[in-house]
Amino acid sequence: MIRFSLKITTLSSHLPSFPPISYNAGMALKISISGVRGTIPDSLTPELCLDFAKAFGTYTNGGMIIIGIDPRPSSEYIKGIIYAGLLSAGCKVIDIGIAPTPTVGIMTKLLRADGGIVVTASHNPLPWNGIKFMTPEGLFLNEKKAAKLIDLYEKKKFRVATPQTVESNDQAIALHIKKVLKVVDINLIRKKKFRVALDGCNGAGSVALVELLKKLGCIVLPINCDVHLPFPHNPEPIPENITELTSYVQAKKTDVGFVVDADADRLAIVADGGFAIGEELTLALAAASILEAAPNAKARKHTIVTNLSTSRVVDDVAKRYGAKVVRTKIGEIHVVEEIIRQEAIIGGEGNGGVIFPQVGYNRDSLAGIALILHYMAKSGQPLSKLARSLPQYVMIKSKVDCAGQFEVNEWLEKVKKSFAGEEMVTKDGIKVVFHDSWVHVRASNTEPIIRIMAEAPTKEKAENLIKRITG
Ligand code: MG
Repeated sequence: MIRFSLKITTLSSHLPSFPPISYNAGMALKISISGVRGTIPDSLTPELCLDFAKAFGTYTNGGMIIIGIDPRPSSEYIKGIIYAGLLSAGCKVIDIGIAPTPTVGIMTKLLRADGGIVVTASHNPLPWNGIKFMTPEGLFLNEKKAAKLIDLYEKKKFRVATPQTVESNDQAIALHIKKVLKVVDINLIRKKKFRVALDGCNGAGSVALVELLKKLGCIVLPINCDVHLPFPHNPEPIPENITELTSYVQAKKTDVGFVVDADADRLAIVADGGFAIGEELTLALAAASILEAAPNAKARKHTIVTNLSTSRVVDDVAKRYGAKVVRTKIGEIHVVEEIIRQEAIIGGEGNGGVIFPQVGYNRDSLAGIALILHYMAKSGQPLSKLARSLPQYVMIKSKVDCAGQFEVNEWLEKVKKSFAGEEMVTKDGIKVVFHDSWVHVRASNTEPIIRIMAEAPTKEKAENLIKRITG
């Protein structure tokens, strides 16, 4: 039997009361609100995958489940085990094959399924893989629902019923693209015949994104868009992993370059000339695109939802259009639930995650790409110019090891003392907010560390904010 260290569960009082988070550094296994993630073959074992599938089959009462995978070599193997677990609980399985995470969400809702499963380790490199679970609405499980699933997994009293069928559905990507094309002015984009470089990391977005760009009349220059080949680089679309695309955009003189992670829910952008504008600006540019296109944006006072650690450039964009920004705890589901509550026009995260409710309630690189191209087409300006027109900030991300709740409290006390009298937001650790800068200190949801992030107009100012805490 696998035993999980409770190192993290004692970490922070802001974590949910039920401990949906277990972490075992030695075995590289994480069970959390985001699902289960581990390494193959040592920690994400067949027994564990089978029991989680049985638990989800029990959780959905033997319902109809949509399953999609990313193209890592172990994904088919894990999918086979999940089939067995779901079927043993009496589920019906609809397999949509290799598909971006947001596509699974859209199909789960569209086909009125009882749940969705994505086999992916998202931005993690090999040998990682993982399983993510979705509600009938195509949303990730929230804390309460994840706790219920993990409880079922731990108790191991699984539903046993006559297995239903396994069917495949090869329409998922086409349906997703159709949804995206409905929410932008296709003709406006098509007329521009944008030259677009695309680095799919040979991941789940490779096919879908090429297809989408073609439908938008773009001249597509794909690199790393073959799902039969291994990842050409670490799939996390952060600056050190996207240099191939940066050079390619420059060499081929394309109008833009897009790069996504392995399950295509995070999008980073390289502007014309090889100007890597990265992940933090993706949401800001997508928000500018939709607000620019929204009739009477100023009078409507739209809402943008993002998390506490996302760049304040989103606030600057919102201000331009009279919109307001609502900030949530870290974690995609918190952003999504707030988008629904606020009926927000758009939301997302600073890691390149754009959530566009008109398409779906998942971080969606397809929606993000369509919105960016729409913004470029409507403005008639190069993307580099659009990006440079936004206020420039420097964000620094730092972390310190932290063994338990006592240390977390010590760090938070230090923040309170160092910034006494300043505006503080305490819904997820402590964020100290100034008029053009901020610093945020919080316990990680997935690792035994404290994250310290700061953003300011200059590197020096951001560093100083961090130094006031770390000394
Ligand atoms: Mg991802």
